[in-house]
Amino acid sequence: MRTIGLIGGMSFESSAVYYRLINEMVRERLGRLSSAELIMYSVNFEEIVALQKAGRWNDAADRLADAAERLQAAGAECVLICTNTMHLIAPEVASRISVPLIHIIDETAAALKAAGRVKPLLLATRYTMEHGFYAERMAENGVSVMVPGPEDRTVTHDIIFNELCAGIIKDESRRKLNGIIERARAEGADSVILGCTEICLILDPNALILPGFDTTTIHAEAAVDFALADEKPRRNCAA
Ligand code: GLU
Repeated sequence: MRTIGLIGGMSFESSAVYYRLINEMVRERLGRLSSAELIMYSVNFEEIVALQKAGRWNDAADRLADAAERLQAAGAECVLICTNTMHLIAPEVASRISVPLIHIIDETAAALKAAGRVKPLLLATRYTMEHGFYAERMAENGVSVMVPGPEDRTVTHDIIFNELCAGIIKDESRRKLNGIIERARAEGADSVILGCTEICLILDPNALILPGFDTTTIHAEAAVDFALADEKPRRNCAA
């Protein structure tokens, strides 16, 4: 099994989901008490949020590239940045390591295309919805993303940072997000990207009015595919 490297802590609420999902998938595929070989470098999110707010993306890139280098030095054979937003600086991080960076946008685009979906609504942080890097990389992969209108973008961004990243789940916020999805469907969206790694804490991608694509699950699964590429097929408990 190859060793997975995770850059986590953005927020730790979603890193915990990554840890659980990756281990559950490894156990599911290999059976018995199998679990993942993985290393997580978890940053202080408060520092990263301050850099985001100040638009200091180069400093943030340096910080995460340093984490990636440390993961590689510790034996990681691939690296995942466990947040959609920080893929804004993924090229800088990838350029500082020689192991593959498993890219959340590419993996999500592949999942959408495999399901025949080409016009997804992107629910994410303001940075992900407005900075262009996400939509551009999706477009390179043949997927044309829609973003909510300005007010709905603010609502979504605030739910992510004020609630989900702080471990707060509110029914009222779930209703608001579902309202945004309804409006997007009326405007032609054919699916929804849960494009922030905490959104799966409040929305079940399989219980939406449009097909949902959870980036946390898709990204975790890509890591497991990489880690187990050379492993034997699944054994049952008695084997
Ligand atoms: N985890 C979130 C994401 O997937 C937001 C946290 C961040 O700003 O990195 O974008």
